[in-house]
Amino acid sequence: MPSPAARHRDNAPDALSVLNAVFGLPAFRGAQEEIVRHVSGGGNCLVLMPTGGGKSLCYQLPSLLRDGCGIVVSPLIALMRDQVAGLLEAGVKAAVLNSTLTFEEANDVERRLLAGDLDLLYVAPERLLTPRCLNLLGRAKIALFAIDEAHCVSQWGHDFRPEYIGLSVLAERFPDVPRIALTATADDLTRKEIADRLGLADAPRFVASFDRPNIRYEIVEKQNAPTQLKAFIDERHAGDAGIVYCLSRAKVEDTAAALTKAGIPALPYHAGLDASVRARNQDRFINEDGVVMVATIAFGMGIDKPDVRFVAHLDLPKSIEAYYQETGRAGRDGKPSSAWMAYGLSDIVQQRRMIDESTGSDAFKRVSVGKLDALVGLAETAGCRRSRLLGYFGEAVSAGNCGNCDNCLSPPQLRDGKVAAQKLLSCAYRTGQRFGAMHLIDVLVGRLTERVTQFGHDKLSVFGIGSELNEKQWRSVVRQLVAMGHLQADSEAFGALKLTETARAVLKGETDVMLREAPAGARVRASRSKS
Ligand code: ADP
Repeated sequence: MPSPAARHRDNAPDALSVLNAVFGLPAFRGAQEEIVRHVSGGGNCLVLMPTGGGKSLCYQLPSLLRDGCGIVVSPLIALMRDQVAGLLEAGVKAAVLNSTLTFEEANDVERRLLAGDLDLLYVAPERLLTPRCLNLLGRAKIALFAIDEAHCVSQWGHDFRPEYIGLSVLAERFPDVPRIALTATADDLTRKEIADRLGLADAPRFVASFDRPNIRYEIVEKQNAPTQLKAFIDERHAGDAGIVYCLSRAKVEDTAAALTKAGIPALPYHAGLDASVRARNQDRFINEDGVVMVATIAFGMGIDKPDVRFVAHLDLPKSIEAYYQETGRAGRDGKPSSAWMAYGLSDIVQQRRMIDESTGSDAFKRVSVGKLDALVGLAETAGCRRSRLLGYFGEAVSAGNCGNCDNCLSPPQLRDGKVAAQKLLSCAYRTGQRFGAMHLIDVLVGRLTERVTQFGHDKLSVFGIGSELNEKQWRSVVRQLVAMGHLQADSEAFGALKLTETARAVLKGETDVMLREAPAGARVRASRSKS
């Protein structure tokens, strides 16, 4: 008996009836219909849609409507497996071709492809690029190529996968087969790169709204991160499933242990753990209720758990794209969820150091610094975070007030910060631009530390001129001036703060500086923070 999918193809069905009959869905969502029509008609395109937006249908359905088999390039074996299982259940003839198959199984898939017995075939990029596979595809009838997670092609991006670069071969070898590239995160630069590398420069772009209205964004000053995290979970997400992102493996381990000790069921996940431990922890996170996964960014892509109620960052990601993608794992089911981040100046220094120490070209470093700066701007903004986030992806939010981020819910007070900025910049200048925030603040508030006396900084005119603000307030001024680009934290000099070109105009009083008040009465106090 022919599968439902095949039956529909024989009768040259329209897209909507396949959507109803095969996928059991009543109607298209957003731009899906237009995309399906475009691709079914043989067009190339780039699709930008947030996680959970319904990207899969955009290539699955045209694969059923067009002659031949749709080839889906996906970097994630687990994701391929899940999708194929779902498709088989719906009666679609789907298969995977990746390294988990035995020789016989792979042969069988190849035979079915050539015999026209497959609707959809999921292939890992490194497999697809083998001469054997390209040769196989050359002999088969191909409906389309779908390149999922297309941002992996971007060298500037946060998920760069070298094997994706080779996918440019698709446009060269199969110019008549439509290509549809899909991603849930791509700023302007990344979009251009995808289009260039995949031969989609002239193809239309379908850009859905990137807004995730059910996610509440909140970014707090890092003071004592583990305590702050625990308070956040206890007060807002007790018993909920969540993901906590940390930069290092050691911090993942420590944080998971600390949460467990505090009675919160937490598991670690990072690339240094045994594959079996990773698989076990991931299974528990997905199948049990209320498990918190503490992870490096090795965890997450392709994890389809609808009821993740919060994503917490204990370290600053690399870019707004990375932040958006990671926080986007919260609330796929549309229910209220939180994206919470604790960050401080040391995070900026750390990320800068990682860029400086990377083996990338100067251009790479420049772009990376730009992307980091944009994220720091988001972290320091006094305005609506959602507007800032969506604005970065070229989207406007009506009235710039979302009502569901920390800044909209309790707007920070702004004050004229010109004098404070001048004091801080002068202090950095007079001390030789060789010291970090902690020392500069000691000088400003007039604290006679060993270092201050050692360098004779108590003799400077700037000594003690900033006693009207406390240490916490000064730290906030430092971060905001870094975010505004008047100060730069030099990662090679242990976070020494240096003046930038624009600092001169501030010192001369030619630039206005509005500063956000550090929130009063922070819940967690630390006598002397490192951030
Ligand atoms: P993405 O790949 O963009 O993250 P998926 O393709 O996995 O999103 O779709 C997310 C969820 O939305 C899936 O559960 C899917 O069944 C559902 N979905 C997709 N399109 C529609 C639609 N037109 N109507 C209802 N549900 C849909």
